[in-house]
This record gives sequence, structure tokens and C-alpha cells, in this order.
Amino acid sequence: MDYDVVIIGGGPAGLTAAIYASRARLKTLLIESYSVTCQAVTTDHIENYPGFPEGINGFELIEKFKKQAEKFGAEFLVSEVKGIKENEAHSGLSLGRNTEPRFIVSGRMYKPTWEILTDDKSYTSRAVIIASGARPKRLDIPGEDKFRGKGVSYCGTCDGALFKNKEVVVAGGGDTALEEAIFLTRFAKKVTVIHRRSTLRGTKILQEKAFGNKKIEFIWDSVISEILGGTKVSVLKVKNVKTGIEKDLSCDGVFIFVGYTPNTAFLKDLLPLDQSGYIIADDNCLTSKAGIFACGDCRKKLLRQVVTACGDGATAAFACQHFLET
Ligand SMILES: Cc1cc2nc3c(=O)[nH]c(=O)nc-3n(C[C@H](O)[C@H](O)[C@H](O)COP(=O)(O)OP(=O)(O)OC[C@H]3O[C@@H](n4cnc5c(N)ncnc54)[C@H](O)[C@@H]3O)c2cc1C
Repeated sequence: MDYDVVIIGGGPAGLTAAIYASRARLKTLLIESYSVTCQAVTTDHIENYPGFPEGINGFELIEKFKKQAEKFGAEFLVSEVKGIKENEAHSGLSLGRNTEPRFIVSGRMYKPTWEILTDDKSYTSRAVIIASGARPKRLDIPGEDKFRGKGVSYCGTCDGALFKNKEVVVAGGGDTALEEAIFLTRFAKKVTVIHRRSTLRGTKILQEKAFGNKKIEFIWDSVISEILGGTKVSVLKVKNVKTGIEKDLSCDGVFIFVGYTPNTAFLKDLLPLDQSGYIIADDNCLTSKAGIFACGDCRKKLLRQVVTACGDGATAAFACQHFLET
């Protein structure tokens, strides 16, 4: 075997798993995609991660996690994982394949090994921890693709500074939308939040901050139906979902924060996923396959935050260690 454990994902969940696995002296490789960004690095200010009462920049926090994992000996690779398959050569096929639910065959633990397929190479491992996270959802409306990078953005931290003294729109009404709307007021002269309902979903403290900010206005019960412009975004078509009336709204940019899609397409033939594509795993982050664990935002769970991703990462690595040692 190349590794005891291969971790897929270099966000808070994957990095915490790497810290715990390498401290447990498991030979650990963490693979991180070059094309999918860790969500935490796209936020300027993480206010609710314990230990940083003044808050911390997401990129800085992730760099600290990475340093800690490297210190304990985890190896890092930048590559895209395309799939995982059972390693036929080392899987003890005589023990049978149908090993659900707890992988016991003839009184013995069935322990397959796994082959992790990347762009150009494959790696064998005794266990896999999936921490592939999620990415922001699109609105899927006309103009969204055409103006991506020309006024359409999914990341306030990355693009906010481009909108100094401009008027921008935020689509969405959850925590991320409110956080980003507040952040964007540092640059923009006006931020209009368009929400499909008449009340916000975000936590109360963020709602209070947003309502108290003079630069933020709200358009309720409405959705953006089209994005228009010349070389850059200049107008949005905004439709009231109750009356059906559509109006034009002039703006220089639109930031879209309307939910998330898990990065799990490469697993669909391997693991059970829920309707939205989140991986189904138990309280110890173990999936239905022996030796494959899932943690962080890619997993079906109630709260998707840095602190819960870290908790999951620690649990997955500990459960993985236990699995390999018994
Ligand atoms: C704008 C914004 C603001 C936020 N603000 C906060 C906040 O203030 N407080 C808070 O607690 N949380 C916040 N969150 C949520 C928080 O960032 C996430 O809950 C957290 O990052 C989840 O960590 P994760 O490791 O599960 O996944 P992610 O951070 O999404 O990391 C996933 C990792 O998997 C990798 N990956 C994906 N697919 C593959 C593949 N096929 N092969 C290899 N690697 C792959 C990616 O490259 C990435 O490294 C915010 C999120 C956003 C988008």
C-alpha cells in the first residue's frame, strides 16, 4: 500500500483529519483539487471560530491548519480526484463482497483496500477520508455565465474590492448572504439584498447588523430572472414572486449566495448520497463502505461551518485509526 490513509480535500475538515491521522502515525496523503476552492479561504472574516475573539481571515486560518498538519508529517498533493475504486489485488475477495452493514464476514472484519484515481496517477490506501466540501449554487438564469467575472461573482472576499463606490446586489437571505452583504459595504456605496421570501433565514445577530447598516437595502419576495449588460453587468431583471411583476434594477455587480452543491459527483457510483448529493455517513463519519469515511460539508448533517468541519475531521481520523487497528 502507498498510504494508510488518503484524505481528499484541503479545507478545515480534511486538514483537521490530516493533523489527527499524522499524529496517530498513520502514513497520510492529503489531495487537494486545483480547480475547486476551499470555502473558508473565500471569506474575509470568520467571527465564530473559537480561540479568535477578534475573528480571523479565512485564508490565514487555513494556512495555520496546514502548517500544523505538515508539522506532524502529512504529505500534500495538488490534484483532482476523479474516482475511488476497490483495489482487487488486496481486497481479500474470499471473504465475500456483500458485507453491509458492519463489514463482518464469517466472524472476521472485511477490510478492502482502495485505489484513488487522480488526473494522472493512482494511489493505493488502506482507508480513505473524503472531505471534498461544497461549492456555491448557481442561479441558472440567462446572463449568469456570460457575465461571470464581469460583474457576476460568488465570492465577496475575492471580488468585493473591484466595486469601490459602486452599487451591487446580493442574491440570497441566509448567513452567507448577510455576512457578504455586510462585508461588501466596505467597498460599495450601496448593497441591495434580493431575497425570495419576506423574512431572512440568517442568524439574528447578522440580521441585526444588516438591518442596522445604512448602505444595505432589501427587496423582498423577489428573484433575479436575468442579468443584462454590455461588456459588464449593468441591469438585473427582478421579478416579484407574489405579484409576478418584473422590474429593471441598475447595478454594477451581483453576488450570488443561494446555497451549496456538495463536491461529490466523483463518488456517485461508489457511495449512497442523499437527494441533494450529500454523503450519508454515521455519527463516526463511516460510510457504507468499510474503510471509507466522510467529513465536513460534503456529508449529510445539520450545521455546515468551520467548527463542525473540524469536529468531523477529528472524528473521521480517529474512527479511521480505530478501524485500521482492529
Ligand atoms: C462565503 C462564505 C463565508 C463563510 N463564512 C463562514 C464563517 O464565518 N464561519 C464558519 O464557521 N463557516 C463559514 N463558512 C462555511 C465554511 O467555510 C465551511 O463550512 C467549511 O469551509 C467546510 O469545510 P470543508 O473542509 O468541509 O470543505 P471546503 O472548505 O469546501 O473544502 C473542500 C476541499 O475539498 C477539495 N476538493 C473538492 N473536490 C475535490 C476533488 N475531486 N479532488 C480533490 N480535492 C477536492 C477542495 O479543493 C477543498 O480543498 C463560509 C462559507 C462561505 C462560502
